[in-house]
Amino acid sequence: MASNKSYIIVGAGVFGVSTAFHLIKKYPNADITLVDRDAFDQDTRVAASWDWNKVVRADYDDIVYCKMAIESQDMFKTDNLWKPYFYQTGIYWMCRSDYAQDVVNNYKKLGRTADLAAVPIDEARKLYGGLFEDADYTGVKEVLVNKSSGWATAGECLIGITREALRLGVKYKQAEVASLQFDNGRVTGIKTGDGETLTAAHTLLCTGAYTPKLLEYCAQASGNNDLCAGERIVAGGITTGMTKLDEESYRRFASMPVGVQGYTAEDGPFIGSLPPTRDRELKWWGEKIFKNDTEVLPGRIVSAPPAKPDYGQWEVSERLKEDIQHANHVFYGKKSAHWKLEKHRICWDAFTTSSDFIISPHTAAKGLYVATCGNFHGWKFFPVLGKYIISMLEGTLEPELSEKWGWDRERPDPKYFADWPRHDMKDIWQGSVTAYSQAAEAENEDVNGVCLLLAAIWELVIVQRASAHIDKARVFLKLDNLQPSGSFKSRGVGNYVLQRAAERITSSATPNSTHFYAASGGNAGIACVHAARMLGYPATVVVPKSAKPVMIAKIWAMGVSKVIQHGSTIAEAQEYILNTLLPADPTGVFVPPFDHQDIWDGNATVVQEIASQLGDKPDVVVCSVGGGGLLNGIMQELDDKKWNNDVQVLAMETKGADSLRQSLDAGHIITLPRITSQATSLGVVRVAEKTYEYAQRPNVTSVVLSDEEAAKGCCLLAEHERMMVELTVGVNVPVCFDGFLQRLLASKKTITKDSKVVLVVCGGNDISLDMLMAWRMAMVGSETVQESTTSMTARVGATGVTA
Ligand SMILES: Cc1cc2nc3c(=O)[nH]c(=O)nc-3n(C[C@H](O)[C@H](O)[C@H](O)COP(=O)(O)OP(=O)(O)OC[C@H]3O[C@@H](n4cnc5c(N)ncnc54)[C@H](O)[C@@H]3O)c2cc1C
Repeated sequence: MASNKSYIIVGAGVFGVSTAFHLIKKYPNADITLVDRDAFDQDTRVAASWDWNKVVRADYDDIVYCKMAIESQDMFKTDNLWKPYFYQTGIYWMCRSDYAQDVVNNYKKLGRTADLAAVPIDEARKLYGGLFEDADYTGVKEVLVNKSSGWATAGECLIGITREALRLGVKYKQAEVASLQFDNGRVTGIKTGDGETLTAAHTLLCTGAYTPKLLEYCAQASGNNDLCAGERIVAGGITTGMTKLDEESYRRFASMPVGVQGYTAEDGPFIGSLPPTRDRELKWWGEKIFKNDTEVLPGRIVSAPPAKPDYGQWEVSERLKEDIQHANHVFYGKKSAHWKLEKHRICWDAFTTSSDFIISPHTAAKGLYVATCGNFHGWKFFPVLGKYIISMLEGTLEPELSEKWGWDRERPDPKYFADWPRHDMKDIWQGSVTAYSQAAEAENEDVNGVCLLLAAIWELVIVQRASAHIDKARVFLKLDNLQPSGSFKSRGVGNYVLQRAAERITSSATPNSTHFYAASGGNAGIACVHAARMLGYPATVVVPKSAKPVMIAKIWAMGVSKVIQHGSTIAEAQEYILNTLLPADPTGVFVPPFDHQDIWDGNATVVQEIASQLGDKPDVVVCSVGGGGLLNGIMQELDDKKWNNDVQVLAMETKGADSLRQSLDAGHIITLPRITSQATSLGVVRVAEKTYEYAQRPNVTSVVLSDEEAAKGCCLLAEHERMMVELTVGVNVPVCFDGFLQRLLASKKTITKDSKVVLVVCGGNDISLDMLMAWRMAMVGSETVQESTTSMTARVGATGVTA
């Protein structure tokens, strides 16, 4: 059993490091481990606490924070450990409410004298050499000028204090915490993503904006849903931006105070500007504070920083950069109009509806404590936070503070809290106009623009597989499963979205208000959302009621605005968009899944890439057919290259989703009454007319295999090529074995050991380890995977070849 003086602190931001530092000073022999996904001294970190600089002020209308901030500032001003990081520049706060008076009164109530005053606007404008004379004073009542406030070099300070805590005996572990350890409901430590466990008597979560997501995982692992944060904590993001001042501007602004534009709770959050750092970089934060609602587990949606490593904190959309332009303008007007705002970052913090911290035992599990929720104002308390957190751990926190910072407490309506995240990241993630126009300019607005933006950023690999189990020909895999959306749909659907966005940019009066709508059970919807989000637009996907929860979760994970379940087929979902959603949304644009020239143009790039990667034409291309968008793109490009006489194309379907094959048999396009194949991505009841037309060409062979054979193909790819693919791809694999390909092509082409056969691994998201294992289990006992491929019974297509 862990010693009573053992502590695991997850999160090395100011809450965690301050706690570790105060604990080791109080209990030099205690066993204290700080765990964070990032090294404490790496160049940049995801922590809100890591930054170039942060405001250190005691200008609070809430007397509790005013008192605590003065206590903290005193440390910054007098303690040798903290002094090197603090700059007492003063603060200049344009107040649109009674804030200035409230702060002045709080100082009085606390018996604290400081050089602070509520100054009339005309007088204030002249201060600091008139730096703020051109600011926007609309609605401003008076300006709070507090010469005792200032700022600190936040990142340097965080590293310095962490180093000091380590010197005193704290341990630091760099690891991603995946869950907690439980013993009879009590939390006894943590479990890392690598499966390592650490135990301690106290486990403290100082995990900032990541807290709700982590608690969802812990709830799932333990079955204790009361662990979830629910509405207690919301992750919110904000944009910061910097400019490097020229020589002359630096001379003027070097000794500026911190600037704040304060608004009322109804108008929005206060925005700020920090004095230049040693590198002459002057910083702003913007006014848009946003959530990022994400399905972190099936059916569990919480706001969380985006899941990319490092959450893409440096990828800031044009719209959010405008937020910083706006901040620049309302502080300095024409003085700063020539400054280039080059460095931008999105930073996430944890919010409560009252803007109060949570420093509390977790009420759902003994041994677990939470200390976080800086609400965009927690950094300045760094020197003293740990003292309060230790009081909480030891049950000696003043009752007023226990109540204020409790896990379970009254939560006021967030409308009284100006900084509450009021936007959703998806809705304001608009980066399209510039990104698109630059790309289009560079690429002459041709279809390669799609690749630049949407596909080619993933270097697609074409791999020669010469393993013994593949007979005769050289087989290449065109890995479109590595496309950003997980399937080839990024090519066609991506191009369609790009072209519509381009039209809106050039033709619409309001280019930014565009909303894309797709009907899909999975891959096309995911590709649509990915393309729309890449270009900065929202997207809604309507899925049939039969859509799998796992696919819906993947659409959510891509950042969709809304998923609507409607109808029993994709066709019905599509009708709902066309007849109900689009008429109600003037900004709406419908994205067809396969039957459009722009989609074929996008898909044609697969042959362009194959040609350049092989340095030659292939002999055979094997591709799956759902609605036919991929086949159309391939055939179109073969025509363009005048290769249709030389390249054979196998059009693969599964039985029960074989709308092409049945149309060919019928001599006209038919509509399947329903889809009975498990390969739902191929489950289109009626192919495009163009597909039917192409499929009758002599170089096309239609092949239909069973779901079972497609599943065997998936298992073979997993086993031999270490690749997880859905049935849509698995159906292509059997042609590589046992002379099957030659039997299919018969006299159309002789396959030799030099023939180049390309399987388009078109990807797909409908696959999991569980599915593969279930298919594998079904095969074990009856026949081996290898043997089974010899007994394939294909119905072979238009030209009457039989296997
Ligand atoms: C743009 C911006 C400007 C701000 N300006 C100011 C200011 O001027 N003055 C001020 O006082 N305050 C300011 N704040 C607020 C302040 O920065 C935060 O309130 C404070 O830093 C939060 O500290 P924290 O320790 O709770 O979280 P963080 O600093 O975010 O630390 C959380 C840590 O937990 C780690 N972590 C999370 N989950 C896991 C996991 N599963 N496994 C391992 N590690 C994990 C993270 O890597 C991170 O290091 C600002 C905040 C932002 C975003």
